[in-house]
Amino acid sequence: MEINFELLINLQGLDEKIEDISQFLDSIPSQIQAIDKKISDSAQIVAEAKDTLTQNQKKRRDLESDVQDQKILIARYRKQLNDVKTNKGYTSLLKEIEDVETEIGALEEEIISEMLTADDLEAEIKTAEKKAAEIRDTFLKEKDLVLKKEKEQGQEKEQLTSERESLIPAIPSDQMGLYKSIFLQANGTALSPVTDDFCFMCQIRIRPQVLNELIARKEIILCENCGRILYWQPKK
Ligand SMILES: [Zn+2]
Repeated sequence: MEINFELLINLQGLDEKIEDISQFLDSIPSQIQAIDKKISDSAQIVAEAKDTLTQNQKKRRDLESDVQDQKILIARYRKQLNDVKTNKGYTSLLKEIEDVETEIGALEEEIISEMLTADDLEAEIKTAEKKAAEIRDTFLKEKDLVLKKEKEQGQEKEQLTSERESLIPAIPSDQMGLYKSIFLQANGTALSPVTDDFCFMCQIRIRPQVLNELIARKEIILCENCGRILYWQPKK
């Protein structure tokens, strides 16, 4: 009886497609994770800029409160001026007031510098927000595409798997057993065509006698080198 290699070839074809799809499906979670990370990274930049602005505003309030304290101090010194009895005391108190005024001047300069920084930060936040929104849009679309592809490929895999299941009963069980064990040993490719006089998968030369046996298709012949099931495939 002639061996029906077509069934095994079909099985091999289905198994290869199923394996490709499985690998793709396995890669989906990391693809989604990478997309989510890009979105959250861009949101993080906005959050950090807002944080810096909050710190800047707090520093400004602290500086303004310092200025208030110093002004109260000056008011107190001025009041004390009325009660000073000696010239020396008067001069030294004036010197105190002058020092505090100098300090207020320095604080006010610092406040202005913080205000300028705040302007820059606000512009930075706006830019970062715009960019984050663009990134979110782009990558949410990409995520949708990936999820759509996942669904399609999942359906395709189900279809191929059911084709495979309906094919198996037609394959003699000894051939099926052999196919399975070689499939596992030979990285998912149990069959190898022979067109001229080479094993396609490992490129070893096939002896003329074996070639004749392959053409006769009466028995299963394994490649002496790679162990795969050989089948004769005439040149097209
Ligand atoms: Zn081989």
